[in-house]
Amino acid sequence: MKSYEIRHLYLDFFKEKGHSVVPGSGLIPFDDPTLLFTSAGMVQFKKFWATDTPLSYPRATTCQKCLRAGGKDSDIDKIGITGRHHTFFEMLGNFSFGDYFKKEAIEWAWEFVLEHLKIPAGYIWVSYYEKDDETKEIWKKFLPVERIVPLSDKDNFWGPAGETGVCGPCTELYIDTGIKKGCSSGCRPGCECGRFLEFWNLVFPQYDKQTDGTLLPLKRRGVDTGMGLERITRIMQNAPSNYETDLFLPIIKKIEDISGCSYDKDEKKKPSFRITADHIRAAVFLIDENVLPSNEGRGYVLRRIIRRAEMAGADLDIKEPFLH
Ligand SMILES: [Zn+2]
Repeated sequence: MKSYEIRHLYLDFFKEKGHSVVPGSGLIPFDDPTLLFTSAGMVQFKKFWATDTPLSYPRATTCQKCLRAGGKDSDIDKIGITGRHHTFFEMLGNFSFGDYFKKEAIEWAWEFVLEHLKIPAGYIWVSYYEKDDETKEIWKKFLPVERIVPLSDKDNFWGPAGETGVCGPCTELYIDTGIKKGCSSGCRPGCECGRFLEFWNLVFPQYDKQTDGTLLPLKRRGVDTGMGLERITRIMQNAPSNYETDLFLPIIKKIEDISGCSYDKDEKKKPSFRITADHIRAAVFLIDENVLPSNEGRGYVLRRIIRRAEMAGADLDIKEPFLH
């Protein structure tokens, strides 16, 4: 299945379930000084949960471009090494603002994964926030209890996206990539060895975090999910990492042409290929929103991304400027 087919399948599925298909917002958050970049699908909706003014739709679905390269969400140091982190990526999501809650969100996630992506149930594990019994009970309708794993607030309590705002417990869906990839017989979701690949996070916004750290109940509780397009594409294309998918291979091919190096044949050069392929996407989409390299703020992040990509290019024996 191609990445663009997954995008459409997802948006069409949630449209069927009564969601408005809303365009993703820009990478530069509109009217939100707490964030450097849009880092998740919920950013454009943050205020929807915290107000009681009427909304034009109670459910939405989006494909949101995201950037995590500065601040507390940054994954920049993991790029190239893990094969599953990115600076720029796309996130598919479905949202409820005071409308449906945990039951529907979980039932529809299960239906989408099994009936539309056609992933066999035997590969799926889930985690949930250890104090959230409601979520555990819902999952028990679909999965044996040993594949429903409690995790602490460190892993399964989401947000807020900035210092303050919407947050709540979450439940995550994982693919088991096989016992051979695991570290021990007790390996479970939450383990860092890479056997269990998390691909969908269902967040249940319930609280509004204040500047002093207190958690007030939200005006509207709801649902906020995020499925990384790069990760689900990797799963659907049975690729060893996010980079061996139709989202990155054309860029990697081009880097091979420019550098004369081989992505497949030289394991040591793989991280440099991946860093370059990842960073060029981030740079292009930032420049598209009129961010230019500079010494501060967003411009500094862009400058750092370009510098890192040029350095990765140097590791691939590229001697001339090439990112353009
Ligand atoms: Zn493990």
